Amino acid sequence: MAPASAPGDNQPPEFAPRDLWRDDIALREAVEREGAAAYMPRIARYGALAGDTLQQLATDAHRDRPRLRRFDRFGHRIDRIEFHPAWHAVMQVAIEHGVAGLSWHEPGPGVHVARAALSYLHYQAEPGSSCPLTMTHAAVPVLRREPALRAWAEKAAAPHYDPRELPIADKPGITLGMGMTEKQGGSDVRANTSTATPLPGVEAGYALAGHKWFLSAPMSDGFLVLAQAPGGLTCLLMPRRLPDGERNRFRLLRLKDKLGDWSNASSEVEFDGSLAWRIGEEGRGIATILEMVMLTRLDCMLGSAGLMRMALAHAVHHCRHRRAFGKRLVEQPLMHAVLADLAIEAESALALSMRVARAVDAAPGDPQEAAFARIATAIGKYWICKRAPAFASEAQECLGGNGYIEESILPRLYRQAPLNSIWEGAGNIQCLDVLRALAREPEAGAALLAELDAARGLDAGLDASIDALRVAMAGHATEEAGARLLVERLALALQASTLLRADNPMAGAFCRSRLDAGRGLVFGALPATVPLDGLLARALPAD
Ligand SMILES: Cc1cc2nc3c(=O)[nH]c(=O)nc-3n(C[C@H](O)[C@H](O)[C@H](O)COP(=O)(O)OP(=O)(O)OC[C@H]3O[C@@H](n4cnc5c(N)ncnc54)[C@H](O)[C@@H]3O)c2cc1C
Repeated sequence: MAPASAPGDNQPPEFAPRDLWRDDIALREAVEREGAAAYMPRIARYGALAGDTLQQLATDAHRDRPRLRRFDRFGHRIDRIEFHPAWHAVMQVAIEHGVAGLSWHEPGPGVHVARAALSYLHYQAEPGSSCPLTMTHAAVPVLRREPALRAWAEKAAAPHYDPRELPIADKPGITLGMGMTEKQGGSDVRANTSTATPLPGVEAGYALAGHKWFLSAPMSDGFLVLAQAPGGLTCLLMPRRLPDGERNRFRLLRLKDKLGDWSNASSEVEFDGSLAWRIGEEGRGIATILEMVMLTRLDCMLGSAGLMRMALAHAVHHCRHRRAFGKRLVEQPLMHAVLADLAIEAESALALSMRVARAVDAAPGDPQEAAFARIATAIGKYWICKRAPAFASEAQECLGGNGYIEESILPRLYRQAPLNSIWEGAGNIQCLDVLRALAREPEAGAALLAELDAARGLDAGLDASIDALRVAMAGHATEEAGARLLVERLALALQASTLLRADNPMAGAFCRSRLDAGRGLVFGALPATVPLDGLLARALPAD
């Protein structure tokens, strides 16, 4: 095989294959710190796969986009999505390794943290498939609310991937999707117009009419849907195939032509008397689906942290090998500052995401952790997902022209980067959610302050920031126009608190560069007082 680069052409060696677990000190520390040390061997196995086999499959799955086939050759309606075989291979590896189901299939202390680590690693390899994996994971606690849906919950949690279009009784494992967003509004789902009419003689059965404007992963076996029942907005499970094997009565109208996320299909769908089963009470749809939404939002944080990690690793790798003006790029002081700033950002994103995953683990037996998870998810989803697009762009620039070329994968990361901030509640919606929690759930604000106060005395900048936040939280709780600033500062303080308490080597640089005044608006615009030595060695071992 010809070498990827010839000596003297100043092109870096190939990036992959790499072991994403072995490379990531921050991840290994976070897994141990947040209580999932027992799962390290299996996370390590997945890290090796994610940096090698999955990377190769991802290229094919992404390049050859899914297609909607509405009819078979006889003119019968089939509404089938055709994927490149690499997509199914990725899904199979992920599900068999627990990316979707580990938390429910093998419950134990630290299992949410372990699955969070798998999810973070998976996003680095093939983010499009993270969408159905995340929705399948997050749907399980909602399905478990209805004893009649026990088989659905068990099969969603099972480590088996089976893409065949069959009733779930004939499948060892299934995947789930979610239909909330309609044409007239995705943020304000109370305005949904789809209807659910009770079906006489069918236990908890309803007929759906109406549409969904965004329904990702339409090849899933079932979808959690919000629709207006006689008693108000209600959560329902709509199967793709009916128990007797017939297709359920809904039509896929078209696939969305998306900016990125190409390997995954997202569709528009029309209901035509589709059968669905109610979950929870009529009129309690938002409350019922909220548990799913919280878990998908945590995965948005983990995904964006993973995307940043992958972009950073490519940038550091390139700059360690590429020379300009007589030095390797990484030795040029200004490039070093850019890379170090990116490294601080990526590690702080991971640290906060994993801290929230631990709160999810502890939540069932610890009300303070449950309250913390509730509010920290909205704060983290806002901030980490907002940082990803600017991060991807800066990392891309570190590669110069090569970063604009598809084979470098940076364009793929760049197109993917905005998605997590938009779906499952766009930025403003997260900020308004934080205000709502502060105003209506005193335990959420108290848990947040307790978390920040636990780091008191470790950094004078953070102490000052907590004092200011305490005042702001009291004063701003109803001021919507100021919500972004409040939530940004809360996120930075939470990240600082997490890093400081972990005695993380990035903590000092994080506090000086993000809590103190004096930095510029872009990555790398840092005052000279920020200690950057050793950060890149931590971020990515030299190869
Ligand atoms: C690739 C992709 C896949 C998706 N998959 C799914 C899926 O599987 N299932 C599903 O249900 N949905 C899905 N969505 C839809 C997504 O969740 C919605 O697009 C999102 O929730 C925003 O809703 P909207 O598009 O209707 O925008 P709108 O609700 O119209 O919001 C537009 C903007 O206004 C802001 N805004 C709204 N209200 C306020 C307010 N009171 N104050 C200030 N600002 C406000 C929002 O933050 C947003 O920035 C997907 C979207 C994408 C892009």
